[in-house]
Parts: sequence; C-alpha cells; structure tokens
Amino acid sequence: MKLKKRLSFLLTSLVTLSLSFNVYASPISFDQKVISKISTKKMMENLKYLSVDIGPKVASSPEEKKAAEFIISEFEKQHYDVEVQEFNYENNVGYLKVLQPETMDLHIQVTKGSPLTPEGGVTSEVIDCGFGSKEEFTDKVTGKIALVKVSEKTTSMYRTILLNAEEAGAIAVIIQNDDWRRLSISSSVTSKIPFATLNNEAGEMLLKEGITVNFQVNRYDTSQNIIATRKPHKNKDSGNIVIVSAHYDSVPTAPGASDNISGVVSLLELSRIFSSFPIDTEVRFVAFGSEEVGLVGSRYYVSQLSQDEKDRIIGNFNMDMVGTAGEKQTTLFVNVTDGQDNLVSKTARATAERLGYADVIKAPFMRGASDHVSFWEAGIDSANFIWRDPVTVELEPWYHQPYDTIDRISVERLRTATEIVGVSVYDVIRKDTPNLHKSKNARERLDFYLINEDTNMESDF
Ligand SMILES: [Zn+2]
Repeated sequence: MKLKKRLSFLLTSLVTLSLSFNVYASPISFDQKVISKISTKKMMENLKYLSVDIGPKVASSPEEKKAAEFIISEFEKQHYDVEVQEFNYENNVGYLKVLQPETMDLHIQVTKGSPLTPEGGVTSEVIDCGFGSKEEFTDKVTGKIALVKVSEKTTSMYRTILLNAEEAGAIAVIIQNDDWRRLSISSSVTSKIPFATLNNEAGEMLLKEGITVNFQVNRYDTSQNIIATRKPHKNKDSGNIVIVSAHYDSVPTAPGASDNISGVVSLLELSRIFSSFPIDTEVRFVAFGSEEVGLVGSRYYVSQLSQDEKDRIIGNFNMDMVGTAGEKQTTLFVNVTDGQDNLVSKTARATAERLGYADVIKAPFMRGASDHVSFWEAGIDSANFIWRDPVTVELEPWYHQPYDTIDRISVERLRTATEIVGVSVYDVIRKDTPNLHKSKNARERLDFYLINEDTNMESDF
C-alpha cells in the first residue's frame, strides 16, 4: 500500500521532471565517471600474477597467503585502512614435484582423509601399479610411490586400492583420474599411507622412464579475509555500509583465473577507482579466503559483525567468476539466495539498462553457492555476479579444473561485469546524489529510484 501511494506521487513528479530533464535510459555522467576510469590492462596484470605466477590457492595454504599479501599491498597502495582478519581453518595441501629428468610441479588434489607426509615429504621413483588390483602391486613398489589409474570413481574402489598399496608396502599412492571436481574422492576415504589424485595428462607424465618425484601432504590451519574500508566524511555520512566482495582462494589444482581471480581483480579495480570518489556511504572491499571449502571466510566475517553493523549494511555486491571466455556463458547472472529481488539485484538491473546491457543481464536468479549466502543468512540484501549459459545455466567447461587459466579469460566480459558492479555500487555510495534522491537513508533513496525503473528516471543535475 505504501508503495502505491508513493508511486502515484512519484508519477506526478516524474512527468514534471521529464519535461525539464533528459531522463531516459542512457548512461548518466555518474556512470561515465566510473566507466572511464576502469583499466582492463591493470586488471589483467593482476590476474597474471595471482593466477599464473601463484597458481592454485587452496584454503589456508601458503599460496593463499601469498595472494593475500598481494591484495593487502594493492589496497595499501590505494591508501585504504586494511584489516587482515585471520580465522582458523585446518586443511591438507598437497604438492607433487618431479625432480628428474626435469623439475616440474604437477597439480594434485589431497583430502583431509590422507595422512601427512614426514617433513620434507617422500621422495622416490614412481611405480606403475596399473588399476590397483592386489596382483598389480608387485614387490617393486615396496618403499616406493605407487601410481594407479582408476576408471570409475567409487569410494569403495579407492578404499580397496589404498588397502592393496598398504599391504604391498608402498610409501604413498598417486591416483590418476579424469575428473578433478572437488568431491571426486570423498574425505571419508582414509588410509595409513599418504595419497593424492591427479588428472590423466599429469598421470601419463609420471609413467615416463626414470621419473623421480617429491610428494608432500602438509597441514595448514589459518586462512584470512582482507578488508579495505573507506568511510565518508562525518558531515556527509548516510550511516549506511555497502560491501563489495570476492573470494581469492581456489580449489586444489585450479589456477583459478576465472574462479575467482576474475572477481578479485575487479574488486581491486573498483577499490582503486573509489579510493578518491566522493561518497556518503561507507564502503568495504572484502577479499574472502576459504570460500571453496564451504563459504568459511565470509561466514566468519559475518559472524564477527556487530548488530549495529549488520543493521547498517544495506547491500553486499559479491563477484565470483566475472571474466570467463566460455563460448556459451554469455549472460551475467545476478544470483540471489532466495530468488527475491533485493537492493543489489534491482540496482544491477537498473544499471544494466542504463548502460545498454539489458540483454546481457539476468537479475534476479535464485542460486546460492557463493559468499553472498553468508550475508543473506544474516538478513542482509546480497547478490552474486557470475557469467552462465542463459539456456542451460551451466558454468564454463573448465570450472574447478586445472584449465581454469588466464587464456580462458575474456577481457570484454571482465570489463562488462566490472562496469555493471562498479556503476551499481557508485549509485548507492556516491555523495552528489540528485536532490530528488536525497534521503538520510540510501535504502529509501534506492526504493525511490527503483520503483521508477521502467523509465529509468535519472536526473543529472
Ligand atoms: Zn568461486
């Protein structure tokens, strides 16, 4: 009811205003201000460092920490107050280094079910044990690392293989399969000897003559969120907070160029741009650790917020996979946990329409599976931005694979997503809002704006 009343009042104002101002769907100067500052060159440089130079960034691993250090230094260069929020997360991380004939790192996946290797790992030649039957574990494998191929992936099969390896006296087992998905080996599979999985291509390499490897399973227990905050001047403070976020960890084996360094470089670009823009709303740029293991970083972050902060956070704009070059992933989905339109999805849709991306965006769409869920659980409006196939809703074929690499990133899509998120965020946090939209509370301001979204009324005075 309240809405209806306001609507009729607004329609009257709208007619009046549309006579005086050019108000129809086209980017306004505030939008252009953001768009003109976006540098894809800088984003791609950062993407190279974080995905190529560092490689996979498993939750709690030293590689995840290395990425965190880079993100901290970037935020600091942009003159933000940076907080490093550590939290406990125990995780096993595996390394497989070919020592001979040439040195090379192979990406492997280990689970919590594997025991740790002794300090420095185990080093030996690799013995081909076929498909891992009792007969195939010959005397040759005693004291050595066994390589086994699996055709099916059942928990019982893994258990049998590991038991056979133990009985034959192998010191470790590397299991070759063709699916890297994180659940390809259940963590309920345990063994007395360390084990890992790798893909067929890497497995074939280990079958070459005279291969010696060093294999490590190490346990780490700390991950971290990185938070860069900018507050408005106290005389111009709406009292509200907006959170822009992206996770920077990856699944084992995946360099994570798309999932989710794309989101991280977009986050860093937006923080760079907004470091000097006039704002009336506090903005926090948050890089979450340990998303891939179950939204651990973002849930920890939300758990540490005071009630006052939770009340003041009006929106979380989360980016997870915003730069894929996937042939079919042509639509930017704005995923909302409960499928209900909220401040974030509405703002994004209005932005896309103004910028000419109306046919590229799908907002809202009901889907969880990223850090926006943690905010939704606390009753905070949130959405995740992600490229998907508009017909099948599928992600790119290299999702969570070792082929999630920089050459499969589309600079154009990275820019489009950064423009839509950046312009939407600025619409909420900017200081010089038109008089029409002025309100103590940005949520009211947005309500006002959004019920007019059919015409995208915006007056730029
Ligand atoms: Zn992700």
